[in-house]
Amino acid sequence: MRIHSLDTRLINQIAAGEVVERPASVVKELLENSLDAGASRIDIDIEEGGKRLIRIRDNGLGIHREDLALALSRHATSKIASLEELERVASLGFRGEALPSIASVSRLTLTSCEKDSDQAWQIQSDGSEQSAAPKPAAHAQGTTIEVRDLFYNVPARRKFLRADNTEYKHIEGVVQRIALSRADVAIHLKRGQKAVLQLAAGALFEEQGRRIQEICGEAFFSQCIHLDQSVTDYQLHGWVGLPAFSRAQADMQYFFVNGRMVRDKLVAHAVRQAYRDVLFHGRHPAFVLYLEMDPRAVDVNAHPAKHEVRFRDSRLVHDFIYRTLHAGLADVRPAAEESVSVATPASSASAASYQTGAAAVSYPSGFQGGAQRSMPLPQVNEQLTQYAKLHPTPPSAASSVATQVVDDNGDIPPLGYALAQLRGIYILAENSQGLILVDMHAAHERITYEYLKKSWQGEGIRSQPLLVPLTLSVSQREADLAEERQDWFTGLGFEIDRLGPEQLVIRQLPALLAKGNVETLLRDVLSDLLEYGQTRRIEETINELLSTMACHGSVRANRQLTLVEMNALLRDMERTERSGQCNHGRPTWTVMTMDALDKLFLRGQ
Ligand code: ADP
Ligand code: MG
Repeated sequence: MRIHSLDTRLINQIAAGEVVERPASVVKELLENSLDAGASRIDIDIEEGGKRLIRIRDNGLGIHREDLALALSRHATSKIASLEELERVASLGFRGEALPSIASVSRLTLTSCEKDSDQAWQIQSDGSEQSAAPKPAAHAQGTTIEVRDLFYNVPARRKFLRADNTEYKHIEGVVQRIALSRADVAIHLKRGQKAVLQLAAGALFEEQGRRIQEICGEAFFSQCIHLDQSVTDYQLHGWVGLPAFSRAQADMQYFFVNGRMVRDKLVAHAVRQAYRDVLFHGRHPAFVLYLEMDPRAVDVNAHPAKHEVRFRDSRLVHDFIYRTLHAGLADVRPAAEESVSVATPASSASAASYQTGAAAVSYPSGFQGGAQRSMPLPQVNEQLTQYAKLHPTPPSAASSVATQVVDDNGDIPPLGYALAQLRGIYILAENSQGLILVDMHAAHERITYEYLKKSWQGEGIRSQPLLVPLTLSVSQREADLAEERQDWFTGLGFEIDRLGPEQLVIRQLPALLAKGNVETLLRDVLSDLLEYGQTRRIEETINELLSTMACHGSVRANRQLTLVEMNALLRDMERTERSGQCNHGRPTWTVMTMDALDKLFLRGQ
């Protein structure tokens, strides 16, 4: 058979195969075009899951009459003109593919009125590049694109479309993502005759918060913390769910790089690691995060639909995300009460009471006022020593708790003062909000765990030579990597040498790991390093061991504690990072405010 060129329409239909998977992909491309055109308001109409109609109207810059046909032809764009511009592209589109692709598989009408022009024009195309001349039309400044009967001419594709409802859900997902990326743009979504979303525009911090709340829900918003961290050329900001607000699916995870939503393996890995220590097994964190960076340091031209990006310095990005989240989550602990505004369940209370480090440092503690609180100091100190004995290895607690008790400045500490113990399991305490309930074992386990981690890090890593060095067959790439990263391994307590092109030998390893399966660990470490350039597997394995030790060493249920011991435990919780969750991610405490209690007893209603 002889070779011949494909006709334009067919070329566009082939391209559509990549870009236009389903109605939701059309919506994504059109919304991105509206944002690129500087729209401040976008109206979306959807009929029959987008199969029958997708109409998107914006008030952006519009398109010049003479460019209308060009907008529908392949590789025509107003967004870049050179490779240099491609490399620092800041617009969402740049490939000039979306409109011709969509036009080739639907009945597309484009109506636009350019800024400062008093006449709108309309054009239709079937993707063959032989569109008729524009006709005058009525339209305010901006653009409307109407896409009818998607895939009417591609039966194979149409067959793969799901029920209207399913396709609609995908569309809604796209609209939500775009809405999260730009709180400063008003977005209205109609399904048939029904207005589903009516999002007002706002650029202020509170308005962004409202947008998050509208899309992710009140539950997320009341149980998340806001982060904002910058280093040199990178800024990471946004909202991350508290461990207590974990989800069964990874369905509330939004990550934007320079305003573009991406799903990135590297990012997902960094986030997972940051939550590792506080999330209940098998649960997924929820977050809306924005990474702003120099566009030249990220390649968005890695995928036609641009879901994936490539970071120039992926290790740095991974590390930055991990560190920012890890630090933010470590600070989640009972904090000063002024910030508490919500009543009821554990989660929302702990969320609302989140405060950054400062609160913990200045946390007040003191026995003041009422009889049960004024206890003679010698007795306090003696009982504190007893509590301290509960620790497998007494942490600094003994002394520091004592000094903090003396250091009285009259305020009630966040977790209040112990009242009693219930069934040897729960501590009941009172603070200015109401009743605090603490799971004694869970809380103590976390305190011990954090203490063990700190002392392990503080001591430096003790290495232990292997009597019989362990040889390991690996791939050449893995061996190269192990050699390259020798210093890194040494820092973690390993001594690893290369024996041959595909052979490593482990001569020494961290003492704590001596009894574990080093071979599997090392293989996993190398494969992480190959894939993500980064791993915390060694630290995590050590953490797991410490966590088990902490669990065994912690106060068991059914142990009777004195009030003073209980108070000391509460004070320890206030000082310990991540103390809102036990080592397995379960909550350690909850509050029942007076309001909640009054409601329960129908008081004052
Ligand atoms: P790209 O977005 O990659 O440039 P498209 O095929 O999506 O390619 O769009 C082609 C061109 O049409 C864009 O570069 C832009 O100039 C113009 N365009 C598309 N949609 C709009 C819109 N809503 N408002 C103004 N111009 C638009
Ligand atoms: Mg586009």
